Amino acid sequence: MSATNRTALLWVGAALLVACQPTPKEADIIFSNGAVYTANATHDVREVVVIDDGKILAVGSADLLKTYTAPKMIDLNGRLLIPGFNDAHTHIMSSPRSFVDVSGAKSIAELQSLVGEMTKVVEPGAWITGYGWSEVKMSDGRKPNRQDLDAVAPDNPVFLTREGSHAGLANSAALKIAGLDAKTPQPEVGELEKDAKGDLTGVINEAAGLVMRHMPPTPPDELVESLARNLNHQLSLGITSLTNATTGPEGYKTMWRRAYTETSLPLPRSTVQINPGLRTGDPQAALKRLEEFGLVTGAGDDRLKVGPLKIFVDGAFSGVGAYTKQPYRSDPKQFGALAAPIADIEVVSRAAHAMGWQFGFHTIGDAAIEQTVDMMDRILAEMPRADHRHYLNHFTVMPSQATMETMARDGIAIAQQPNFTYILEGLFRTHLWDEALQSNNPVGTPLKMGIKMAFSSDIIPIGPLVGIYAAVTRKGLSGETYGPDECVDIKEALRLYTHGGAWLNFDDDIKGTIEPGKLADLVVLSENILETPPERILETQVDLTLVGGEVVFERAAQ
Ligand SMILES: [Zn+2]
Repeated sequence: MSATNRTALLWVGAALLVACQPTPKEADIIFSNGAVYTANATHDVREVVVIDDGKILAVGSADLLKTYTAPKMIDLNGRLLIPGFNDAHTHIMSSPRSFVDVSGAKSIAELQSLVGEMTKVVEPGAWITGYGWSEVKMSDGRKPNRQDLDAVAPDNPVFLTREGSHAGLANSAALKIAGLDAKTPQPEVGELEKDAKGDLTGVINEAAGLVMRHMPPTPPDELVESLARNLNHQLSLGITSLTNATTGPEGYKTMWRRAYTETSLPLPRSTVQINPGLRTGDPQAALKRLEEFGLVTGAGDDRLKVGPLKIFVDGAFSGVGAYTKQPYRSDPKQFGALAAPIADIEVVSRAAHAMGWQFGFHTIGDAAIEQTVDMMDRILAEMPRADHRHYLNHFTVMPSQATMETMARDGIAIAQQPNFTYILEGLFRTHLWDEALQSNNPVGTPLKMGIKMAFSSDIIPIGPLVGIYAAVTRKGLSGETYGPDECVDIKEALRLYTHGGAWLNFDDDIKGTIEPGKLADLVVLSENILETPPERILETQVDLTLVGGEVVFERAAQ
């Protein structure tokens, strides 16, 4: 064909296009008239998203409205559409009916009144459990003690887990059932706190099992029902995917599978970390449990699947368990401790790596981080595996440069909690020396060094927007800024809280960004936080949540 003929044909083609505007194709849902943060690698912001058959069909400009139409047109009205949040490290509880949520208690009196109310509901002698107290949030300037609980619940054993699950508070009835008193020797791991007179205060650090093993088992139906309810609640926070950071092998096969098959409530997608229950001196028992489990990382489907192996390498600052190189600021003799000897952890890890498990190990202190990275490095040198995506859960005290270089080289990632800087400010000020305090829960430095990261909440507090706020401001509750070099911009923060977790779970090919072909797991935020001052982030609400193209949460009109 000559050049002239080809030009003539092109003209004819163009004329035809103008003459017959194609009828728009029908899809299921179209979002328009706002900002769409895609969370793709180049952080693109678009205007229109078309959803069909549970997936994203097209993303682009207002021009898409000429190509597509839908029965459900959602006007963003200047708001922000993002991929659903992926909370890469959380703990979804399942609790008996006699469970009290004390996470909102701002004083010991409030805590007492919540427990007191429950004594009116349960029989005398029945256990009352609860979660979420923290002396940091309470105005009394001290931890609650057993006497506080005895005053309102003299006839019921009570055990309230502290926020973060590294400590708990028992009343006298619970201590009595557990056989604990002032003469009980301190446990090998953890601590029974004592008052000035040497009496038990009721606070137990890193050893809740001493009390909890005396509780009668809760009927499984009650637990499954509550797990489903608590999972469903995540949707109101904009969380469409999550990783539950520790579950026993049997818990996965019974509770989690049952929650996903039996409930009629909409649920987020879950990846469940399996904790084989490593006990000091007995790595073989943990390995046996893993072998009996029979599944490894990746088993399951896009609603519920097996995640990484979970091992606690150290504890946390809330229970003086975080294992650090420097002594705690609060106590020159305190360095925290390993939760199990590295040699035992290594026996389980080496075998699990060979079985195909991904690692997601709890490491808060720099000493725990460094020993864990060295161990993973040894295993990877011996048994290289492409794309293993092994990672550390928590990264509170920044380790040495050399350790971070090893992480970057080996591809060892981090499930980081930026919200810790905000909400646990008091704890870090108490225990960390200046440099470690400034760089607590670092984000900027590890990213600059090429370490992969995902954001998560560890449920303290649970909403992802608190983490986003802290990641961009590096502010504590008091308003003070810590290590501004460790911040990231709002787009990066959103990508780490969406794509980050999807990547960590080998799901970045199906979710985590707003791109054609991805699952339509989406969230509408009440404000375009790409543009507003960071202070507005804490006021921002989740207006709408979709999982697989279905609306699963809609905020009631105010
Ligand atoms: Zn955790």
